[in-house]
Amino acid sequence: MKNILLSMTAADLGQVALDMGEKEFRGRQIAHWIYRAGVKEIEQMANLPALFRKKLASRYTVGRASILNLSQSKDRTFKLLLQLDDGESVESVGMLYSDRFSCCVSTQAGCPVGCVFCATGAEGYQRNLAAGEIVGQVLAVQEAGQKEGLAEVNGRVSHVVFMGMGEPLLNYEATLKAVHLINSEMGIGMRNITISTIGYVPGIFRLAEERLQLTLAVSLHAADEALRRKLVPGMTRYSLKDIIQACRDYIKTTGRRVTFEYCLLNRVNDSREDAERLAALLKGLNCHVNLIPYNPFPGNAYKKPEKATIDEFRRRLEEMGINVTQRAQKGAGIRAACGQLRGQHNL
Ligand code: SF4
Repeated sequence: MKNILLSMTAADLGQVALDMGEKEFRGRQIAHWIYRAGVKEIEQMANLPALFRKKLASRYTVGRASILNLSQSKDRTFKLLLQLDDGESVESVGMLYSDRFSCCVSTQAGCPVGCVFCATGAEGYQRNLAAGEIVGQVLAVQEAGQKEGLAEVNGRVSHVVFMGMGEPLLNYEATLKAVHLINSEMGIGMRNITISTIGYVPGIFRLAEERLQLTLAVSLHAADEALRRKLVPGMTRYSLKDIIQACRDYIKTTGRRVTFEYCLLNRVNDSREDAERLAALLKGLNCHVNLIPYNPFPGNAYKKPEKATIDEFRRRLEEMGINVTQRAQKGAGIRAACGQLRGQHNL
């Protein structure tokens, strides 16, 4: 089986070139072809000598996944279903706004956390993704955006959110390696990268020590201990108090504001009292709350709250001094909530 180039830095690729009797600078050329030009075949790396290309291709492959499905919604969101080498599949989403091209990547095939409202959680856990499989999603989304003529902002992905299938901090090494590749090899600014965790406390402490300028988003979904245990059954080892303490440490160590994600579920966590509990929990923290009205999927009992309920929840948080945004609900027409496209293909 051939080794995979995707996931190697320009320096790693320089070593590959040296090992094959070539000059080290070839590594930078190969990195450019993979991460900037987005080629899928070594044969396309036109400025490498033909003999070196042949030698390289006898031992290595670029390692891009194939696209099983692409679906688009009217609001300039599209979703890819990618097939990995071993037959596993993952979802990635491209979202186009007037000022940015955002890509949401998966870090695991399936997810072990099993949140009760999540399509991915309902499908169970298969495996961690390698760093190259994560970066490959960004390249695939970028290419799809360009092909469909959807992408603006020079046609390049400008923002990456680790918010697709899986819990990124349970696949820590590959996630961090992917962050560095996206930043240094693809040229996407660290401040344009967001890692979203369901509240895996050891991972938050560890990430703080990296002192990166990326954004940490923590999905709370409840400010009441019993309700959170019910909604997020795979993370009950860590209480809300533990999570807030880890976030406090993160803010102190990195100087970065934390985002709290809160998925609003009709008559489950959307009352005035829920908003007040949330505001009390976050009091004094350098943070903001991102409200996500639930995107229902077939076979799941949870529903999206009425607009008036969402507005009231938001207003109550603001009255209590919390910065709030509401995520624009994109992609409902293509079943863009994580795990839904994969479930549809029954893979
Ligand atoms: S919401 Fe996130 S952490 Fe929870 S099951 Fe889905 S993918 Fe996993």
